Amino acid sequence: MNTLAEDNDIFDICIVGAGMAGATIGAYLAPKGIKIALIDREYTEKRRIVGELLQPGAVETLKKMNLEHLLEGFDAQPVYGYALFNNGKQFSISYNPDDSTNYHGVGSHNGRFLQKIRADVLNNESVTQIHGTVSELVEDSKGVVTGVKYREKHTREFKTVKAKLTITSDGFFSSFRKDLSNNVKTVTSFFIGLILKDCELPFPNHGHVFLSAPTPFICYPISSTETRLLIDFPGEKAPKKDDIRKHVLTKVAPFLPAEFKECFTNAMAENDFKVMPNHYMPAKPVLREGAVLLGDALNMRHPITGGGLTAVFSDVYLLSTHLLAMPDFNDPKLLHEKLESYYQDRYHANTNVNIMANALYGVMSNDLLKQGVFEYLRKGGDNSGGPISLLAGLNKNPTSLIKHFFSVAWLCIINLTEKNKMNLANVFHIIKDAFCIIKPLAVHELRPSSFYKKNIQH
Ligand SMILES: Cc1cc2nc3c(=O)[nH]c(=O)nc-3n(C[C@H](O)[C@H](O)[C@H](O)COP(=O)(O)OP(=O)(O)OC[C@H]3O[C@@H](n4cnc5c(N)ncnc54)[C@H](O)[C@@H]3O)c2cc1C
Repeated sequence: MNTLAEDNDIFDICIVGAGMAGATIGAYLAPKGIKIALIDREYTEKRRIVGELLQPGAVETLKKMNLEHLLEGFDAQPVYGYALFNNGKQFSISYNPDDSTNYHGVGSHNGRFLQKIRADVLNNESVTQIHGTVSELVEDSKGVVTGVKYREKHTREFKTVKAKLTITSDGFFSSFRKDLSNNVKTVTSFFIGLILKDCELPFPNHGHVFLSAPTPFICYPISSTETRLLIDFPGEKAPKKDDIRKHVLTKVAPFLPAEFKECFTNAMAENDFKVMPNHYMPAKPVLREGAVLLGDALNMRHPITGGGLTAVFSDVYLLSTHLLAMPDFNDPKLLHEKLESYYQDRYHANTNVNIMANALYGVMSNDLLKQGVFEYLRKGGDNSGGPISLLAGLNKNPTSLIKHFFSVAWLCIINLTEKNKMNLANVFHIIKDAFCIIKPLAVHELRPSSFYKKNIQH
């Protein structure tokens, strides 16, 4: 690894942001001899509540890239499925309904995982590490992006990096998505995060989803002694300090199973809450020569399903596969075609992950539909096996997602009969709510290419 970029160096790739997306694509491409400048404003480990639960789809993509070793050595925990809790009833669903598969997810501290990926990428001769904040994309007279301008951290000087391709992976507050897309992001809700220590989970090594409370909340292991609790705070405005405690004490505490009481009380006493906005932002890239978007800078979904890194790693793999199909980076026309193919091919990989995340959040925030989804999954067989493979990022077929979504709505209608609440108004209510959830997602996410794999296996 180098730390000095000479002014006349021209890199194959300049990566803006050594986060989950940027560091991972670097770790995959650098060993193949591709000359990379990796820029981040901060390389120290952060305590974040994002990107802690990897679905099996994300783990499988890491395996495909021979990067599975990046999950070792920092007390990451295997996750074998989900447990659901509702009004005193509980059950679990495995990622592997029978013995024919061996999928698992992984829970970990995001900061530790990211440092492991960064150490891996920086271990390559072909990588130059730059510590600085990128301020703008540099372009030539024809508007082709030829690199970036950045302010170096230690010298405070402005410098330039030249590259044949600039990958902007500067995360959810991206400064560069406006140059490369027409994306509009909306805040769906906030997540309040706290860590439960030495908590014995009712279903060890499982994600836990709690539906009885007025607000959805989830938890999962992030080390051998710690469990992350993530609590939804609805609305577009961040909760104030006082709101956070009140929300957690009134909307969560009464609905926690007995096993959690002691570690929850300890966590409340520590008062170490972290709050993050949950965005929805469908991908609307604008093709531009010399630059491409990757990660949250391009596309975001609600984190309730832990689908973010499934999408990020699958994009890393797709973009890399297209780039590696070129003999080198010296043919701008061919490079441009590869970027176009990447944007096109990613629909198939990500449509379900994106729809699933926001549809499930919509369902879990709707009283009638969430009862339906609980009963639906509890039936087992394809009713649970189908949705869990969608959630895991293993089933990429949108037809299957749409089938299960409307089957849940249908079950809600049947349930009305059993509860003697069947009337036109209630049926209309369910159908309307289901359509209101799924229609905008289908409009933003579904394309003909969502239904078939194109050039690449993913
Ligand atoms: C509350 C929450 C919980 C989540 N939980 C999960 C989960 O459990 N599982 C999951 O799969 N996904 C989860 N996600 C989503 C997941 O974390 C993201 O999809 C993923 O981190 C995106 O990676 P990224 O590389 O695009 O961004 P980041 O990992 O944020 O990286 C961006 C990098 O760019 C750098 N940077 C930014 N601007 C500049 C600049 N101008 N110059 C230089 N460097 C710059 C930053 O320092 C940072 O290192 C969650 C998201 C949220 C909001």
